[in-house]
Amino acid sequence: MNNPYPYSDTNKRYYTFDYYTKHRFGGKCGKAPLDIGCGCPNKDGTCGTGGCIYCRDGSRSAVGESIREQYDHAAAVAARKWKNLAGMIPYFQSGTNTYGDPARLTRAWEEAAALEGAVMIGIGTRADCLGSDVIEALCHLAERIPVTVELGLQTAHDETARRINRGYDHARFLDGYTRLKTAADTLNGDSRKGYGRLSVGIHLINGLPGENRTMMLETAEITASLQPDLVKIHLLHILRETPMAALYEKGLYTPLERDEYCEIVCRQLEILPEDTVIGRITGDGMAEDLIAPQWSRRKTDVANTIDKMQAAENLWQGKACK
Ligand code: SF4
Repeated sequence: MNNPYPYSDTNKRYYTFDYYTKHRFGGKCGKAPLDIGCGCPNKDGTCGTGGCIYCRDGSRSAVGESIREQYDHAAAVAARKWKNLAGMIPYFQSGTNTYGDPARLTRAWEEAAALEGAVMIGIGTRADCLGSDVIEALCHLAERIPVTVELGLQTAHDETARRINRGYDHARFLDGYTRLKTAADTLNGDSRKGYGRLSVGIHLINGLPGENRTMMLETAEITASLQPDLVKIHLLHILRETPMAALYEKGLYTPLERDEYCEIVCRQLEILPEDTVIGRITGDGMAEDLIAPQWSRRKTDVANTIDKMQAAENLWQGKACK
């Protein structure tokens, strides 16, 4: 195998999440998506209404099930799928998981941290919901168990952010990101990237309406300059009963083709730092709600295409990182 990428023991030329958990926790880890009914300030009128135009979050809420019930269910599914898991990662996924009463959030996070087999906590949220009290609570939690906070940037372009009704501009993102990253750096000391107590991740979405390849690569450049511990690259999914679905059905939006998407991801990986963990290289939408692009259902096909494109052109993560 002729693979020049250093953080890989397979044919992968990017820093997979499996490689990360193997080296940090000793093996593959399962994820337990959790919904604690946090809601979103972009839906309840606090900073906007209607939410991001592609969002179907909360349409099948698990609220009513306790954290333990949701976790046990996910852990049982993961154990059937993979043998000898090194642990589970409770992931506060639905809605904005740093929004609301900090005392209630802290209780939920602490409950998840105490679950048997939990090795790390994931918390998905918005950069405009990171008050100093919340950051303090996250640091406190991270003293007990490793924590990764994942922020939805999606795009660095303000005109796109307005078009998708994200509810904050890039300056606001940078403010939240920087305050959280500074707190994390202080807590982590000289730990290797991604291996500290508190890690910070950024989510990107390719194929947003009005964006071209150049804009998506610019978003990757700006993301690279922020030195996140983790990046998740998503494909825009058109889901039923969303404003994006209406645009698509009127012929006002054309999704990316598979190879077009894969080529953009290869270039973004080249731009990102070599030691940033890549948590995802395509979307993981709700299959039953997916209208388009249908090719995205074949996730293995997408991953294989990216592998082949990288190998054919001898590309790897970080090769073009400035
Ligand atoms: S921030 Fe997240 S939960 Fe809120 S509307 Fe946007 S995608 Fe949905």
